[in-house]
Amino acid sequence: MCGIVGYIGHRRALPLLLNGLKRLEYRGYDSAGIAIPHEGKLHIVKRAGTVAQLEALLSLTDFPATIGIGHTRWATHGEPIDRNAHPHVDSSGRIAIVHNGIIENYATLKAKLQQDGYTFHSDTDTEVLAVFIGALYEQYGNLELAVRTALSEVQGTFGLVVLSADHPDLLIAARRGSPIVIGIGENEYIVASDATAIVEYTRSVFYLTDDEMAILTRSGCRTKTIDDVPTSAQLLELEFDLERIEKGGFPHFMLKEIYEQPQTFRDAHRGRLLVQEGNVKLGGLRSVEKQLRQARRLILTGCGTSWHAALVGEYWIEELARIPVEVEYASELRYRNPVLYPDDIVIAISQSGETADTLAAVREAKLRGATVLGIVNVVGSSIARETHAGVYIHAGPEIGVASTKAFTSQLAVLMLLALYLGRMRHLSATQAQEIAAEMLRIPEKIRSILERSELIRDIACQYAHAQHFLYLGRGVNFPVALEGALKMKEISYIHAEGYPAAEMKHGPIALIDENMPVVVIVPRDELYEKVLSNVEEIRARRGKVIAIATEGDTEIEALANHVIPIPETLPLLTPILTVIPLQLLAYHAAVERGCNVDMPRNLAKSVTVE
Ligand code: GLU
Repeated sequence: MCGIVGYIGHRRALPLLLNGLKRLEYRGYDSAGIAIPHEGKLHIVKRAGTVAQLEALLSLTDFPATIGIGHTRWATHGEPIDRNAHPHVDSSGRIAIVHNGIIENYATLKAKLQQDGYTFHSDTDTEVLAVFIGALYEQYGNLELAVRTALSEVQGTFGLVVLSADHPDLLIAARRGSPIVIGIGENEYIVASDATAIVEYTRSVFYLTDDEMAILTRSGCRTKTIDDVPTSAQLLELEFDLERIEKGGFPHFMLKEIYEQPQTFRDAHRGRLLVQEGNVKLGGLRSVEKQLRQARRLILTGCGTSWHAALVGEYWIEELARIPVEVEYASELRYRNPVLYPDDIVIAISQSGETADTLAAVREAKLRGATVLGIVNVVGSSIARETHAGVYIHAGPEIGVASTKAFTSQLAVLMLLALYLGRMRHLSATQAQEIAAEMLRIPEKIRSILERSELIRDIACQYAHAQHFLYLGRGVNFPVALEGALKMKEISYIHAEGYPAAEMKHGPIALIDENMPVVVIVPRDELYEKVLSNVEEIRARRGKVIAIATEGDTEIEALANHVIPIPETLPLLTPILTVIPLQLLAYHAAVERGCNVDMPRNLAKSVTVE
């Protein structure tokens, strides 16, 4: 959440900052702003709205400076209006900061500063920090010391970059809880909240860890803790190309990412599925093999779409490995005094690897002695670093705020894990071989569903003005119903609910009338007949049935108003296919309603605040 970019080097900072902000805009798009030193003063240009609007505002300006900072905001404190946009400045106007996170004790600090005569011009927690740093700078005359002292007194989270008109050769970056990555070029540094703003300039990066800061000048970089203990940065090479963060001819990132799924699903299992042997190789889990063999229970945790993937994982792991699995919202696990035993395995699932609630759950579980694993997309992210071991999903950057390809890649890895744990226990090689062989056929099957995009678009257009949607699924497809409803809510703002199909009669059936579209996931599996009865119940109340069903199923064709066929696959693997039409249904409905699919209202990518 929130895009931060900072530059110090030999290039003109302004175009680089604007370019970086455009790349990071998916992380927050309430407002945008920059701070640049010019003729001895800091120039702050900021406004509510998009980076393109900020760029228009700057079109007549030409700042030659080779240092600057920029921000796109996802508001936590204070409305998304001009005066709350970042950068925020201290009382002298000579120190500017951009911030991601929440200063939890901002009210106390603000009251103290007001008593000392300081005044404020925004409603944000961030301005309080800026003014606090400025006050300490007045006292010490040393910017680094002022920043360190301020940061050791604030509670809450920050990813931060500080720029001062008095120090045109210095940028200070710091983090606690919110990610900061620093790209290293030749006598230049680019600070950002994620690597998408960096990759076109350099591939060599390092991440700050919590309570660490970087002091960057054109001639070098030092890192230390905010308590002044020197640290050493661990360099990483970025693995993705520029084209992976561009739209490549698609109208939206979300659609591009939906279409990438045949490839990303394959990338998630490439080299890991040993079909002949009926087994799985997961290098990232070698160091915890003993713990996995002895595990008595698994706890899968995550938020949003990752939580839905965890629910599918629960069915798979219990079915194939016969280990009890619990699925917990990370935001609940972290505060719930959970009962965790040393032989429990906690698995944290997060696309960004920076989800604040999931990271906190990881820390809590480690504290209580569990073995903690990560299923993460972003290499080198906080969850990847802080877990004992883990598996990357290798989906490449996901820019669409509504997660799509990360979900199917998480499923791929969860199925690998279920097979791996199963083969350590009772699962036969033959059964594993059968599943593994079918996993190899899934990408082609996804592709064939994508070819039906027009059919799905027609259906979406017919119902795009509905007020509500109901999604039903059973067994392993119940979490897919939840995920389908979430996609619809996120990008089209249509109210949608997912339910286990059999639960409909316990309440939601009251909502059904001729205006209610009901998406029913009804592949040919052992629960098929049961779900068919639910379809009859909907029809009896004149609800409109959109069925996601196995190709060639004539029975459902006779009952449903619309059928979106999916190719036949093993019943356990159906979620990987049934979710695809639901992604497209939400996408087309949102486009039909004129919604901004890549920047849905109130949302942003990578939820780094609580
Ligand atoms: N809490 C700060 C604000 O509301 C930072 C928000 C952000 O991360 O974008 O301005």
